[in-house]
Amino acid sequence: ADMREERINKTKTVCTYCGVGCSFDVWTKGRKVLKVEPQPASPANDISTCIKGKFGWDYVTSEERLTKPLIREGDYFREAEWEEALMKIYKEMTALKTNHGADSIGFISSSKATNEESYVMQKFARQVIGTNNIDNCSRYCQSPATKGLFRTVGHGGDAGSIDDIASADLVITIGSNTAESHPVLASRMKRSQKLSNQKLLVFDIRQHEMAKRADAFYRPYPGSDLVWISAVTKYMIDQGWHDEAFIKENVNGFEAFYDSLASYTLEFAEMNTGLDKEVIKEIAQTISQQDKVAICWAMGVTQHQQGSDTSTAISNLLLATGNYRKHGAGAYPLRGHNNVQGCSDFGSIPNFMPGYEFVTDDEVRSRYEEKWGHPLPNEDGKDNHEMIRSIHDGDLRAMFVLGEDTGVVDSNINYVTAAFEKLDFFVVQDLFLTKTAEYADVVLPACSSLEKEGTFTNTERRIQRLYRALEPLEDTKPDWEILTLLAKQFGYDWDYQSPADIMEEAASLAPLFAGVTYERLEGYNSLQWPVAPDGTDTPLLYTEGFPFADGKARFYPLTYEPNYELSETFDLHINNGRLLEHFHEGNMTYKSPGITRKTPSAFLEVSEELAKERGMKEGALVKLTSNAGEATVTVTVTDRVQGNQLYLPLNDNGKSAVNLLTDNSVDKDTNTPAYKEIAVSLEVLRKQ
Ligand code: SF4
Repeated sequence: ADMREERINKTKTVCTYCGVGCSFDVWTKGRKVLKVEPQPASPANDISTCIKGKFGWDYVTSEERLTKPLIREGDYFREAEWEEALMKIYKEMTALKTNHGADSIGFISSSKATNEESYVMQKFARQVIGTNNIDNCSRYCQSPATKGLFRTVGHGGDAGSIDDIASADLVITIGSNTAESHPVLASRMKRSQKLSNQKLLVFDIRQHEMAKRADAFYRPYPGSDLVWISAVTKYMIDQGWHDEAFIKENVNGFEAFYDSLASYTLEFAEMNTGLDKEVIKEIAQTISQQDKVAICWAMGVTQHQQGSDTSTAISNLLLATGNYRKHGAGAYPLRGHNNVQGCSDFGSIPNFMPGYEFVTDDEVRSRYEEKWGHPLPNEDGKDNHEMIRSIHDGDLRAMFVLGEDTGVVDSNINYVTAAFEKLDFFVVQDLFLTKTAEYADVVLPACSSLEKEGTFTNTERRIQRLYRALEPLEDTKPDWEILTLLAKQFGYDWDYQSPADIMEEAASLAPLFAGVTYERLEGYNSLQWPVAPDGTDTPLLYTEGFPFADGKARFYPLTYEPNYELSETFDLHINNGRLLEHFHEGNMTYKSPGITRKTPSAFLEVSEELAKERGMKEGALVKLTSNAGEATVTVTVTDRVQGNQLYLPLNDNGKSAVNLLTDNSVDKDTNTPAYKEIAVSLEVLRKQ
């Protein structure tokens, strides 16, 4: 260790922030992070990074890091040794399991932890405890996109690579604040626009940076994307602009699908989206004139009561125009967290084993049962949303949350934290004493990504290795090691010496990762799943057809159900999203003084019209009230939002004003909170 302190070390790692998955060398001296240096060999980012990847590392050495396990004593925590903490978890969970059954316990995995850690977390839930109650934060963001893709094309991941987005003739973004949420990807788009004449259409209710740069910017009513997408699809088919040959060869169900579009007339679209009939025609024309169309979307699509349906409509449109099975085209749900793709891929979801094989499939389960030497639960478990509800109902009595500040990021947090208070036993494993951890009975101190090995999977299904740049801080341990020790406490000897052993096991069980090995991922090498046993990976999906029995994709008919409107009391729509400088709830980025100086807290964006109408000036203080709760925030007046629409960044230094307002409404197919469908009233407390 002394030697290391003298020297500057360069270690390859992968960014811990967003789903673009930038990789770079991190320069360290002792425990100091000196700088990061992206490499020409970095597959997703070449030599770029954004402000977070470059400067967002102070949290690793923050004084606020947990360094010892904590055990609750009344209103306080006391420090404990690992042995005692793990023994306590063993005793409490065993008692609950004996008295109330395995399904009285629930697990939430982390999209910031590695693939190997997601794998051991789901293994712990299924093998050691015996429940499928395990989920992760993709439930808050992209589950609807995955659902829409499963319904139509069969794989829940991006159709191609970031290179394909960069080489499309036309890129359409819907409900994505790309420049702030996926900065390096946005830079690639900007470059393509400039150098290769790529066209960009942006659909959003807020005029963000990409909207200003777009060839055309459209502002449909909040939550109405399903309508214009379906109307555009219908109009193209009516004009004979669809790709008949592609459909004939590749897609089932065209007739029924076309029939289902009957109601999506230009008039209907104009009425429901606010986009003029001529505009709908113009969009249809633009799309059908381009050879290669890529559609990118994010939370502006998914976090609605019809988030899955709207994602499905996007895929329908791409199928109708033959925009799959070729480079430069396809569906690109942009994954938020660095490893939110991988966390689901490796099985931390209630209905899938690793690699998206159903827990209800006997053949699949028996493969795992044989390897793990233990019968496994055969019914779908509860997702995040159902777990919280089930705590209120008295059925779920214990939770284990790994690296997720659920009490800040879930919708309707008053309801969520009230649930935490009802738990008989609560374990949180994290780097910090988060808001969520404050409710725990046992808190386990984990390592940051710089202090461990493993792999992350980015938005383009790319699996990349990270290497240990720093020794674990004091008494902290990597998540995989903690779970391995805990399993041992329960009498299960997993015998993993390193994350490589875990990946080897996962690859031997899940066909999607059959050829994934640490050797093949050495250094800056990477693999995009599915990976065949011989190591051949899949930068572009569906080249051999779609993963259904007959190799064909399917059109999926949809019905629009408007289910959200403003009322006299709640007369303003509030939207939310990210800021460039901060990440998510801000547990990490707010620990960087440079970043925090630049953007100290979040402001409520208010349109010029509304500011005038209500007599508010820059800096005004207002109270927002929704049917779920209230929050007090400071106002900034901007032309990014219009009319009676408000925007509140969710990166808010732990105050989470947004989720004091969001309620329990969810996407009807995946239970993803409808964060984007909140109506509020506004009371001015101070005018400027
Ligand atoms: Fe990290 Fe995303 Fe920024 Fe790349 S774009 S450096 S992955 S936060």
